[in-house]
Amino acid sequence: MERKYSYDVVVVGGGAAGIGAAVGAAQTGARTLLVEKNPYFGGAATHSSVLTYCGFFTQGEPYEQIVGGVGQQVLNQLAKMGMYNGPRRTARTRTVIVPLDPEVTKVALDRCIMESKVEPLLHAQVIAAEVQQGRIRAIQCIDHAGPFVIEAGAFVDASGEANLTSLAGGGVVFGDDQGHLQSATLMIRIGGVLAEADAHPLKVEEAVQKGKAAGIVGLTKELGTVVRMPGCGDVLAILCDEEVNGLEAASLTRAEISARNQAWAYLEAFKRFLPGFENAYLVQTGPQIGIRETRHVVGEYCLKGEDVLEARRFSDAIARGGWPVELHPEPGAPNVWHQIKDQSFYDIPLRSLKVNGVDNLWAAGRTIDCDPIAFASARVMGTAFATGHAAGVAAALTSSSGQADAQAVRAELLRQEAII
Ligand SMILES: Cc1cc2nc3c(=O)[nH]c(=O)nc-3n(C[C@H](O)[C@H](O)[C@H](O)COP(=O)(O)OP(=O)(O)OC[C@H]3O[C@@H](n4cnc5c(N)ncnc54)[C@H](O)[C@@H]3O)c2cc1C
Repeated sequence: MERKYSYDVVVVGGGAAGIGAAVGAAQTGARTLLVEKNPYFGGAATHSSVLTYCGFFTQGEPYEQIVGGVGQQVLNQLAKMGMYNGPRRTARTRTVIVPLDPEVTKVALDRCIMESKVEPLLHAQVIAAEVQQGRIRAIQCIDHAGPFVIEAGAFVDASGEANLTSLAGGGVVFGDDQGHLQSATLMIRIGGVLAEADAHPLKVEEAVQKGKAAGIVGLTKELGTVVRMPGCGDVLAILCDEEVNGLEAASLTRAEISARNQAWAYLEAFKRFLPGFENAYLVQTGPQIGIRETRHVVGEYCLKGEDVLEARRFSDAIARGGWPVELHPEPGAPNVWHQIKDQSFYDIPLRSLKVNGVDNLWAAGRTIDCDPIAFASARVMGTAFATGHAAGVAAALTSSSGQADAQAVRAELLRQEAII
């Protein structure tokens, strides 16, 4: 018998953007389904061990909180479990981050979803979209039992790879205008490190250089982000870079295997050349290599590098971004940073979320319409909660009234305590 379901709003992808969108849509009154192919929500945070939420705050002194609403609800859940009592600054770049524990994050996100009456659907992958007269009528998903259909009045593409937009025939671009992508990185989590060990990125850089000089094969990046995890004191390192097309299984397979070899090379370098790491061991890689960039949607407005760096404001602002531009140009190369004017924030307009050519489809998170410089800031998870929240509200209004006027979306976001 054919399995068929019907909702007001369906959100595809349960990362930061998808959580923001689903909770935002449900809080606007929409019957909302959140579809995720993994066995847990969190996207890159839980599935690629990207265990620091960036973008909730500006970088100035003092910092200012610029993401509220659903993002704040997530922080509240983390706080209830003793895993959040305010952000901290990183040792080298002095950026403001919220460190995470993966298991606490999984449960905190489950609780946000359940409390807001979103219907969760894990282990389901979206594989097709049925479009009629410029609107998605239904999507097709697959699980182990086979394909099934879900109809809805409006949809949010929070898949990270703009999968739904692509399936629905909406406009997408791959990487920058030349098809160049930010590099991917396999996260490595290292345990058995002495509490007094100095894991400052510059010390780590020295150890990697010594490792390279000693002939350890497979090391790429020397200087990158290295943070201590809350609670356990494990060290998380963002160093094992790979060039990969994150849309294609064959390319991903090569990159996963190569990056795992890198992880063991870094462990060897740390054990030999970083004091306090002599008994270190690899707690975890990934699980999946972290993909920074694949497709972006073509929306009604492409957010530009100048908008970000000059801290521009828009009358249809639905979110704020405050993370500096952080480029990962190629595997092994140092990250390139550019500060936002006055270490302040920029607005993200609703038009950057509206997918051109598909009337009832909204984009969220790292899929929104950005140029390469703007993307290097707006992609972080704090900002993804905010663009997701707005996309969810816009989708709920589209489903109930056929349209989502920017001022109506802003009014509803303010009612839900978003910071705009
Ligand atoms: C190595 C690395 C380090 C980073 N460091 C940081 C950092 O320190 N802090 C920070 O804030 N950001 C960081 N980022 C950026 C950030 O992780 C991403 O840009 C962010 O996760 C975007 O959120 P999202 O919800 O748009 O996408 P994602 O987190 O990618 O979530 C998308 C979700 O959609 C699901 N999905 C995709 N297709 C389908 C489908 N067809 N059917 C069902 N489900 C589907 C995926 O399984 C996934 O769970 C980093 C990224 C990488 C790769």
